[in-house]
Amino acid sequence: MTHEVRHATCCVIGCGPAGAILGLILAREGVDVLVLEKHGDFLRDFRGDTLHPSTMEIMDELGLAEGLLDLEHTKAPRIEARLPGRTVTVADLSHLKTRYPFITFMPQWDFLDYVTGEAKRYPNFRLEMNAEAKDLILEDGIVRGVRYETPEGPCEARALLTVAADGRSSPFREQAALKMVRTSPPIDVLWFRLSRQDGDPEDTFGYAGGGRFMVVINRGEYWQIAYVIRKGDYQKVREDGLEDFRRSVGETIPDLADRTWELQDWEAVKLLSVQADRLRRWHRPGLLCIGDAAHAMSPVGGVGINLAIADAVAAANALAGPLGEGRVHTRDLIAVQLRRELPTRAIQAFQTFAQRRVVSSSLGPDGAPSIPVPARMILSLRPVRDLAARIIAFGIWPEHVKRQEASERIGQTQVARKESVE
Ligand SMILES: Cc1cc2nc3c(=O)[nH]c(=O)nc-3n(C[C@H](O)[C@H](O)[C@H](O)COP(=O)(O)OP(=O)(O)OC[C@H]3O[C@@H](n4cnc5c(N)ncnc54)[C@H](O)[C@@H]3O)c2cc1C
Repeated sequence: MTHEVRHATCCVIGCGPAGAILGLILAREGVDVLVLEKHGDFLRDFRGDTLHPSTMEIMDELGLAEGLLDLEHTKAPRIEARLPGRTVTVADLSHLKTRYPFITFMPQWDFLDYVTGEAKRYPNFRLEMNAEAKDLILEDGIVRGVRYETPEGPCEARALLTVAADGRSSPFREQAALKMVRTSPPIDVLWFRLSRQDGDPEDTFGYAGGGRFMVVINRGEYWQIAYVIRKGDYQKVREDGLEDFRRSVGETIPDLADRTWELQDWEAVKLLSVQADRLRRWHRPGLLCIGDAAHAMSPVGGVGINLAIADAVAAANALAGPLGEGRVHTRDLIAVQLRRELPTRAIQAFQTFAQRRVVSSSLGPDGAPSIPVPARMILSLRPVRDLAARIIAFGIWPEHVKRQEASERIGQTQVARKESVE
Protein backbone atom coordinates (compact mmCIF):
# COMPACT_ATOMS: atom_id res chain seq x y z
CA MET A 1 0.00 0.00 0.00
CA THR A 2 1.25 3.51 -0.82
CA HIS A 3 1.90 5.72 2.13
CA GLU A 4 3.46 9.10 2.76
CA VAL A 5 6.76 9.44 4.56
CA ARG A 6 7.64 12.66 6.38
CA HIS A 7 11.12 13.42 7.62
CA ALA A 8 11.88 15.63 10.61
CA THR A 9 14.72 16.05 13.03
CA CYS A 10 12.28 15.65 15.92
CA CYS A 11 8.81 14.10 15.77
CA VAL A 12 6.56 14.93 18.73
CA ILE A 13 3.55 12.67 19.30
CA GLY A 14 0.69 14.65 20.86
CA CYS A 15 -0.02 18.37 20.89
CA GLY A 16 -1.07 18.86 24.50
CA PRO A 17 0.75 21.40 26.66
CA ALA A 18 4.00 19.37 26.66
CA GLY A 19 4.07 18.68 22.92
CA ALA A 20 3.01 22.19 21.90
CA ILE A 21 5.62 23.94 24.05
CA LEU A 22 8.38 21.53 23.05
CA GLY A 23 7.48 21.99 19.37
CA LEU A 24 7.45 25.76 19.74
CA ILE A 25 10.82 26.02 21.50
CA LEU A 26 12.57 23.55 19.21
CA ALA A 27 11.23 25.36 16.14
CA ARG A 28 12.38 28.65 17.61
CA GLU A 29 15.83 27.10 18.02
CA GLY A 30 15.91 26.17 14.35
CA VAL A 31 15.15 22.46 14.77
CA ASP A 32 12.94 20.88 12.11
CA VAL A 33 10.00 19.57 14.15
CA LEU A 34 6.85 17.67 13.22
CA VAL A 35 4.04 17.47 15.80
CA LEU A 36 1.30 14.86 15.34
CA GLU A 37 -2.09 15.39 17.01
CA LYS A 38 -4.80 12.79 16.75
CA HIS A 39 -7.72 15.20 17.19
CA GLY A 40 -8.89 17.77 14.66
CA ASP A 41 -8.98 20.55 17.28
CA PHE A 42 -8.03 21.24 20.91
CA LEU A 43 -11.59 21.44 22.23
CA ARG A 44 -11.56 19.21 25.28
CA ASP A 45 -13.37 20.31 28.40
CA PHE A 46 -12.19 20.05 32.01
CA ARG A 47 -8.50 19.63 31.34
CA GLY A 48 -5.59 21.27 33.07
CA ASP A 49 -6.54 24.92 32.80
CA THR A 50 -4.38 26.25 35.62
CA LEU A 51 -1.27 28.16 34.56
CA HIS A 52 0.92 28.68 37.59
CA PRO A 53 3.53 31.48 37.90
CA SER A 54 6.26 29.03 36.77
CA THR A 55 4.45 28.61 33.44
CA MET A 56 3.72 32.33 33.12
CA GLU A 57 7.43 33.06 33.61
CA ILE A 58 8.26 30.59 30.85
CA MET A 59 5.73 32.30 28.59
CA ASP A 60 7.34 35.61 29.51
CA GLU A 61 10.79 34.28 28.59
CA LEU A 62 9.34 33.26 25.23
CA GLY A 63 7.94 36.77 24.80
CA LEU A 64 4.40 35.39 24.83
CA ALA A 65 3.01 36.24 28.29
CA GLU A 66 1.42 39.50 27.25
CA GLY A 67 -0.33 37.99 24.24
CA LEU A 68 -1.52 35.11 26.37
CA LEU A 69 -2.96 37.42 29.01
CA ASP A 70 -4.82 39.31 26.26
CA LEU A 71 -6.97 36.18 25.94
CA GLU A 72 -9.92 35.74 28.25
CA HIS A 73 -8.81 34.41 31.61
CA THR A 74 -9.34 34.75 35.35
CA LYS A 75 -6.72 35.15 38.06
CA ALA A 76 -6.58 33.59 41.51
CA PRO A 77 -3.96 35.20 43.78
CA ARG A 78 -5.18 33.16 46.76
CA ILE A 79 -6.49 29.67 47.41
CA GLU A 80 -8.82 29.31 50.38
CA ALA A 81 -10.36 26.30 52.08
CA ARG A 82 -13.78 26.67 53.68
CA LEU A 83 -14.08 24.24 56.54
CA PRO A 84 -17.06 23.92 58.86
CA GLY A 85 -17.03 27.18 60.85
CA ARG A 86 -13.79 28.66 59.46
CA THR A 87 -11.94 29.70 56.33
CA VAL A 88 -8.26 28.88 55.95
CA THR A 89 -5.89 30.44 53.40
CA VAL A 90 -4.06 27.48 51.89
CA ALA A 91 -1.75 29.58 49.73
CA ASP A 92 -1.39 33.31 49.17
CA LEU A 93 0.59 33.91 46.00
CA SER A 94 0.09 37.67 46.01
CA HIS A 95 3.31 38.24 48.06
CA LEU A 96 5.56 36.27 45.74
CA LYS A 97 8.34 38.06 43.90
CA THR A 98 7.22 37.46 40.35
CA ARG A 99 5.45 39.46 37.65
CA TYR A 100 2.70 36.85 37.81
CA PRO A 101 1.74 36.36 41.49
CA PHE A 102 -1.46 34.45 40.71
CA ILE A 103 -2.81 31.29 39.11
CA THR A 104 -4.15 32.03 35.63
CA PHE A 105 -7.26 30.08 34.66
CA MET A 106 -7.70 29.73 30.93
CA PRO A 107 -9.30 26.97 28.85
CA GLN A 108 -6.57 24.63 27.71
CA TRP A 109 -7.78 24.86 24.10
CA ASP A 110 -7.21 28.64 24.07
CA PHE A 111 -3.72 28.11 25.45
CA LEU A 112 -2.93 25.46 22.81
CA ASP A 113 -4.44 27.49 19.96
CA TYR A 114 -2.27 30.42 21.01
CA VAL A 115 0.96 28.44 21.42
CA THR A 116 0.58 26.55 18.14
CA GLY A 117 -0.40 29.81 16.38
CA GLU A 118 2.92 31.29 17.54
CA ALA A 119 4.84 28.14 16.62
CA LYS A 120 3.47 28.25 13.08
CA ARG A 121 5.40 31.47 12.52
CA TYR A 122 8.46 29.27 12.18
CA PRO A 123 8.74 27.52 8.81
CA ASN A 124 10.42 24.54 10.43
CA PHE A 125 7.41 23.85 12.70
CA ARG A 126 4.81 21.51 11.24
CA LEU A 127 1.65 20.43 13.01
CA GLU A 128 -0.48 17.68 11.53
CA MET A 129 -3.94 17.49 13.05
CA ASN A 130 -6.08 14.33 12.69
CA ALA A 131 -2.82 12.38 12.73
CA GLU A 132 -2.99 9.46 15.15
CA ALA A 133 0.33 7.83 15.92
CA LYS A 134 0.07 4.04 16.04
CA ASP A 135 3.38 2.18 16.11
CA LEU A 136 6.93 3.13 16.81
CA ILE A 137 9.37 2.33 14.03
CA LEU A 138 12.05 0.28 15.73
CA GLU A 139 15.22 -0.62 13.87
CA ASP A 140 18.02 -2.47 15.66
CA GLY A 141 16.52 -1.46 18.99
CA ILE A 142 16.52 2.25 18.07
CA VAL A 143 13.32 4.24 17.62
CA ARG A 144 13.46 5.84 14.17
CA GLY A 145 10.02 7.43 14.11
CA VAL A 146 6.38 6.42 14.17
CA ARG A 147 3.66 5.12 11.85
CA TYR A 148 0.45 7.09 11.97
CA GLU A 149 -3.03 7.28 10.48
CA THR A 150 -4.58 10.28 8.77
CA PRO A 151 -7.96 10.67 7.02
CA GLU A 152 -5.99 10.42 3.75
CA GLY A 153 -4.39 7.14 4.75
CA PRO A 154 -1.38 5.73 6.62
CA CYS A 155 1.82 7.75 6.97
CA GLU A 156 5.25 7.37 8.45
CA ALA A 157 7.26 10.02 10.30
CA ARG A 158 11.01 9.35 10.36
CA ALA A 159 13.02 11.33 12.86
CA LEU A 160 16.31 11.44 14.72
CA LEU A 161 14.32 11.72 17.95
CA THR A 162 10.69 10.81 18.66
CA VAL A 163 9.09 12.36 21.74
CA ALA A 164 6.01 10.73 23.24
CA ALA A 165 3.94 13.62 24.67
CA ASP A 166 0.65 11.85 24.12
CA GLY A 167 -0.63 11.89 27.67
CA ARG A 168 -1.30 9.43 30.42
CA SER A 169 -2.56 6.53 28.26
CA SER A 170 0.45 6.56 25.95
CA PRO A 171 0.83 3.13 24.30
CA PHE A 172 4.38 3.95 23.23
CA ARG A 173 5.78 3.27 26.70
CA GLU A 174 4.80 -0.37 26.39
CA GLN A 175 5.92 -0.54 22.77
CA ALA A 176 9.31 0.75 23.94
CA ALA A 177 9.34 -1.66 26.91
CA LEU A 178 9.51 1.19 29.42
CA LYS A 179 8.26 0.14 32.84
CA MET A 180 5.82 2.10 35.03
CA VAL A 181 5.67 2.63 38.78
CA ARG A 182 1.97 2.93 39.61
CA THR A 183 0.35 4.27 42.76
CA SER A 184 -3.32 3.91 43.64
CA PRO A 185 -4.85 7.28 44.52
CA PRO A 186 -7.90 6.78 46.75
CA ILE A 187 -10.04 9.36 44.93
CA ASP A 188 -11.78 10.17 41.65
CA VAL A 189 -13.13 13.56 40.60
CA LEU A 190 -16.44 14.58 39.03
CA TRP A 191 -16.19 17.84 37.07
CA PHE A 192 -19.11 20.06 36.18
CA ARG A 193 -19.99 23.73 35.82
CA LEU A 194 -22.63 26.03 37.30
CA SER A 195 -23.32 29.60 36.26
CA ARG A 196 -21.82 32.58 38.08
CA GLN A 197 -24.23 35.30 39.08
CA ASP A 198 -24.10 38.87 40.37
CA GLY A 199 -22.97 38.99 43.99
CA ASP A 200 -21.06 35.68 43.85
CA PRO A 201 -17.63 35.71 45.50
CA GLU A 202 -14.58 36.28 43.28
CA ASP A 203 -12.23 33.78 44.85
CA THR A 204 -11.41 30.22 43.97
CA PHE A 205 -11.78 28.00 47.00
CA GLY A 206 -12.13 24.47 48.38
CA TYR A 207 -14.95 23.21 50.59
CA ALA A 208 -14.43 20.39 53.07
CA GLY A 209 -16.84 19.10 55.63
CA GLY A 210 -19.96 17.01 56.11
CA GLY A 211 -18.26 14.12 54.37
CA ARG A 212 -17.66 16.01 51.15
CA PHE A 213 -14.75 17.74 49.44
CA MET A 214 -15.12 20.14 46.52
CA VAL A 215 -13.03 22.73 44.74
CA VAL A 216 -14.85 25.68 43.20
CA ILE A 217 -12.98 27.62 40.53
CA ASN A 218 -14.01 31.05 39.27
CA ARG A 219 -14.00 30.84 35.46
CA GLY A 220 -15.58 34.23 34.81
CA GLU A 221 -18.96 33.27 33.30
CA TYR A 222 -19.23 30.08 35.30
CA TRP A 223 -17.96 28.12 38.28
CA GLN A 224 -15.93 25.02 37.44
CA ILE A 225 -16.45 22.52 40.22
CA ALA A 226 -14.46 19.46 41.22
CA TYR A 227 -16.53 17.09 43.36
CA VAL A 228 -14.20 14.53 44.92
CA ILE A 229 -15.44 10.97 45.50
CA ARG A 230 -13.80 7.83 46.81
CA LYS A 231 -12.25 5.78 44.04
CA GLY A 232 -14.80 3.37 42.62
CA ASP A 233 -17.85 5.23 44.01
CA TYR A 234 -18.92 6.70 40.66
CA GLN A 235 -21.47 3.95 39.92
CA LYS A 236 -23.02 4.40 43.35
CA VAL A 237 -23.29 8.18 42.85
CA ARG A 238 -25.06 7.50 39.52
CA GLU A 239 -27.37 4.93 41.10
CA ASP A 240 -28.32 7.35 43.89
CA GLY A 241 -29.57 9.63 41.13
CA LEU A 242 -29.07 13.15 39.87
CA GLU A 243 -31.47 14.62 42.41
CA ASP A 244 -29.33 13.32 45.30
CA PHE A 245 -26.22 14.62 43.60
CA ARG A 246 -27.72 18.09 43.13
CA ARG A 247 -28.84 18.11 46.78
CA SER A 248 -25.40 17.12 47.95
CA VAL A 249 -23.80 19.96 45.95
CA GLY A 250 -26.34 22.48 47.29
CA GLU A 251 -25.83 21.36 50.90
CA THR A 252 -22.07 21.65 50.60
CA ILE A 253 -22.06 24.99 48.78
CA PRO A 254 -25.23 26.76 49.92
CA ASP A 255 -24.33 29.81 47.79
CA LEU A 256 -24.85 27.70 44.69
CA ALA A 257 -27.90 25.69 45.83
CA ASP A 258 -30.23 27.93 43.79
CA ARG A 259 -28.72 26.79 40.50
CA THR A 260 -27.96 23.09 40.87
CA TRP A 261 -31.00 22.53 38.58
CA GLU A 262 -28.63 23.50 35.76
CA LEU A 263 -27.29 19.93 36.00
CA GLN A 264 -29.95 18.37 33.77
CA ASP A 265 -28.30 15.02 33.06
CA TRP A 266 -25.12 13.04 33.71
CA GLU A 267 -23.68 14.30 30.42
CA ALA A 268 -22.99 17.54 32.31
CA VAL A 269 -20.83 15.67 34.84
CA LYS A 270 -17.46 14.32 33.66
CA LEU A 271 -15.58 11.62 35.56
CA LEU A 272 -11.82 12.02 35.93
CA SER A 273 -10.41 8.70 37.01
CA VAL A 274 -7.49 9.93 39.10
CA GLN A 275 -4.29 8.24 38.14
CA ALA A 276 -0.75 8.76 39.39
CA ASP A 277 2.22 6.92 37.98
CA ARG A 278 5.66 7.46 36.52
CA LEU A 279 8.10 5.72 34.25
CA ARG A 280 11.22 4.20 35.74
CA ARG A 281 13.14 5.18 32.62
CA TRP A 282 11.80 7.98 30.44
CA HIS A 283 13.78 7.10 27.33
CA ARG A 284 15.41 4.56 25.09
CA PRO A 285 17.59 5.23 22.07
CA GLY A 286 15.65 7.50 19.73
CA LEU A 287 12.71 8.02 22.12
CA LEU A 288 11.90 10.31 25.05
CA CYS A 289 8.65 10.48 27.05
CA ILE A 290 7.59 13.74 28.71
CA GLY A 291 4.56 15.21 30.47
CA ASP A 292 1.73 12.90 31.47
CA ALA A 293 3.22 10.20 29.23
CA ALA A 294 6.18 10.05 31.64
CA HIS A 295 4.21 10.73 34.84
CA ALA A 296 0.44 11.07 35.25
CA MET A 297 -0.27 13.45 38.12
CA SER A 298 -3.16 13.54 40.54
CA PRO A 299 -5.24 16.73 40.13
CA VAL A 300 -4.30 17.83 43.69
CA GLY A 301 -2.76 21.29 43.37
CA GLY A 302 -3.55 21.55 39.65
CA VAL A 303 0.08 21.00 38.70
CA GLY A 304 -0.20 18.54 35.79
CA ILE A 305 -0.09 21.09 32.99
CA ASN A 306 2.71 23.04 34.67
CA LEU A 307 4.91 19.96 35.15
CA ALA A 308 4.25 18.92 31.54
CA ILE A 309 5.39 22.35 30.34
CA ALA A 310 8.45 22.27 32.64
CA ASP A 311 9.40 18.90 31.10
CA ALA A 312 9.07 20.41 27.64
CA VAL A 313 11.35 23.33 28.54
CA ALA A 314 13.93 21.02 30.15
CA ALA A 315 13.84 18.75 27.08
CA ALA A 316 14.20 21.68 24.68
CA ASN A 317 17.08 23.15 26.73
CA ALA A 318 18.94 19.84 26.76
CA LEU A 319 18.18 18.68 23.23
CA ALA A 320 17.95 21.69 20.90
CA GLY A 321 21.76 21.85 20.61
CA PRO A 322 22.34 18.15 19.89
CA LEU A 323 19.31 18.01 17.56
CA GLY A 324 20.59 21.07 15.69
CA GLU A 325 23.89 19.24 15.20
CA GLY A 326 22.08 16.13 14.02
CA ARG A 327 23.01 13.84 16.92
CA VAL A 328 21.27 12.83 20.10
CA HIS A 329 23.04 10.59 22.59
CA THR A 330 21.45 8.58 25.35
CA ARG A 331 23.26 10.83 27.84
CA ASP A 332 21.23 13.79 26.51
CA LEU A 333 18.00 11.90 27.20
CA ILE A 334 19.25 10.83 30.63
CA ALA A 335 19.94 14.50 31.39
CA VAL A 336 16.28 15.35 30.82
CA GLN A 337 15.07 12.62 33.16
CA LEU A 338 17.67 13.49 35.82
CA ARG A 339 16.53 17.08 35.79
CA ARG A 340 12.80 16.39 35.94
CA GLU A 341 12.47 13.18 37.93
CA LEU A 342 13.19 14.57 41.38
CA PRO A 343 10.69 17.46 41.18
CA THR A 344 8.08 15.06 39.80
CA ARG A 345 8.59 12.52 42.57
CA ALA A 346 8.57 15.20 45.26
CA ILE A 347 5.26 16.61 44.00
CA GLN A 348 3.76 13.12 43.72
CA ALA A 349 4.79 12.42 47.32
CA PHE A 350 3.13 15.66 48.44
CA GLN A 351 -0.03 14.77 46.48
CA THR A 352 -0.15 11.33 48.08
CA PHE A 353 0.06 12.94 51.54
CA ALA A 354 -2.67 15.47 50.69
CA GLN A 355 -4.93 12.80 49.19
CA ARG A 356 -4.70 10.53 52.21
CA ARG A 357 -4.60 13.04 55.07
CA VAL A 358 -6.80 15.83 53.79
CA VAL A 359 -8.97 14.86 50.84
CA SER A 360 -9.72 11.21 51.47
CA SER A 361 -10.25 11.71 55.21
CA SER A 362 -12.86 14.40 54.41
CA LEU A 363 -15.04 11.93 52.54
CA GLY A 364 -17.64 9.62 54.01
CA PRO A 365 -20.13 10.19 56.81
CA ASP A 366 -19.17 13.21 58.94
CA GLY A 367 -15.68 13.24 57.51
CA ALA A 368 -13.48 16.23 58.18
CA PRO A 369 -9.93 16.91 57.08
CA SER A 370 -7.63 15.08 59.45
CA ILE A 371 -4.36 16.90 59.92
CA PRO A 372 -2.56 16.11 63.16
CA VAL A 373 -2.47 19.09 65.57
CA PRO A 374 1.34 19.55 65.49
CA ALA A 375 1.26 19.53 61.68
CA ARG A 376 -1.60 22.04 61.74
CA MET A 377 0.40 24.34 64.01
CA ILE A 378 3.44 24.14 61.76
CA LEU A 379 1.30 24.75 58.68
CA SER A 380 -0.16 27.89 60.21
CA LEU A 381 3.28 29.57 60.55
CA ARG A 382 3.79 32.39 58.07
CA PRO A 383 7.18 31.17 56.66
CA VAL A 384 5.71 27.70 56.15
CA ARG A 385 2.66 29.16 54.42
CA ASP A 386 4.92 31.27 52.20
CA LEU A 387 6.94 28.18 51.36
CA ALA A 388 3.72 26.34 50.44
CA ALA A 389 2.75 29.24 48.18
CA ARG A 390 6.19 29.14 46.51
CA ILE A 391 5.95 25.41 45.91
CA ILE A 392 2.47 25.75 44.41
CA ALA A 393 3.66 28.66 42.28
CA PHE A 394 7.02 27.36 41.09
CA GLY A 395 7.17 23.65 41.95
CA ILE A 396 10.40 22.22 43.33
CA TRP A 397 12.70 23.03 40.46
CA PRO A 398 11.37 25.65 38.05
CA GLU A 399 12.62 25.55 34.48
CA HIS A 400 13.69 28.56 32.43
CA VAL A 401 14.06 28.87 28.69
CA LYS A 402 17.78 28.91 28.02
CA ARG A 403 18.46 29.95 24.49
CA GLN A 404 17.59 33.00 22.48
CA GLU A 405 15.73 32.80 19.21
CA ALA A 406 18.15 31.38 16.64
CA SER A 407 16.61 33.07 13.63
CA GLU A 408 19.79 32.75 11.64
CA ARG A 409 19.67 28.99 12.07
CA ILE A 410 16.05 28.82 10.97
CA GLY A 411 17.00 29.93 7.47
CA GLN A 412 19.35 26.98 7.23
CA THR A 413 16.85 24.49 8.54
CA GLN A 414 16.37 21.56 6.35
CA VAL A 415 13.04 21.89 4.58
CA ALA A 416 10.85 18.90 5.25
CA ARG A 417 11.03 16.30 2.63
CA LYS A 418 7.92 14.48 1.57
CA GLU A 419 8.14 11.41 -0.51
CA SER A 420 6.06 8.42 -1.48
CA VAL A 421 7.09 4.83 -1.11
CA GLU A 422 5.41 1.66 -2.17
C1 LIG B 1 -10.46 15.99 33.61
C2 LIG B 1 -9.07 16.51 33.86
C3 LIG B 1 -8.88 17.63 34.65
C4 LIG B 1 -7.61 18.11 34.90
N1 LIG B 1 -7.44 19.23 35.66
C5 LIG B 1 -6.20 19.75 35.81
C6 LIG B 1 -5.99 20.99 36.45
O1 LIG B 1 -6.93 21.63 36.94
N2 LIG B 1 -4.73 21.49 36.51
C7 LIG B 1 -3.68 20.82 35.95
O2 LIG B 1 -2.54 21.33 35.99
N3 LIG B 1 -3.83 19.64 35.36
C8 LIG B 1 -5.07 19.09 35.25
N4 LIG B 1 -5.24 17.94 34.57
C9 LIG B 1 -4.07 17.26 34.03
C10 LIG B 1 -3.55 18.00 32.82
O3 LIG B 1 -4.58 18.17 31.87
C11 LIG B 1 -2.41 17.18 32.26
O4 LIG B 1 -1.45 16.95 33.27
C12 LIG B 1 -1.72 17.92 31.13
O5 LIG B 1 -2.64 18.26 30.12
C13 LIG B 1 -0.64 17.02 30.59
O6 LIG B 1 -0.15 17.55 29.41
P1 LIG B 1 0.50 16.59 28.32
O7 LIG B 1 0.82 17.47 27.18
O8 LIG B 1 1.56 15.77 28.93
O9 LIG B 1 -0.65 15.54 27.92
P2 LIG B 1 -2.12 15.78 27.41
O10 LIG B 1 -2.67 17.07 27.82
O11 LIG B 1 -2.88 14.55 27.75
O12 LIG B 1 -1.96 15.87 25.84
C14 LIG B 1 -1.71 14.74 25.04
C15 LIG B 1 -2.10 15.09 23.61
O13 LIG B 1 -1.73 14.00 22.79
C16 LIG B 1 -2.80 13.68 21.91
N5 LIG B 1 -2.67 12.27 21.59
C17 LIG B 1 -2.95 11.21 22.37
N6 LIG B 1 -2.66 10.06 21.75
C18 LIG B 1 -2.18 10.41 20.53
C19 LIG B 1 -1.72 9.66 19.40
N7 LIG B 1 -1.69 8.32 19.42
N8 LIG B 1 -1.31 10.32 18.30
C20 LIG B 1 -1.33 11.70 18.27
N9 LIG B 1 -1.78 12.45 19.30
C21 LIG B 1 -2.18 11.82 20.42
C22 LIG B 1 -4.05 14.03 22.71
O14 LIG B 1 -5.15 14.25 21.85
C23 LIG B 1 -3.60 15.29 23.44
O15 LIG B 1 -3.83 16.44 22.67
C24 LIG B 1 -6.50 17.44 34.34
C25 LIG B 1 -6.68 16.30 33.54
C26 LIG B 1 -7.95 15.84 33.28
C27 LIG B 1 -8.12 14.62 32.40
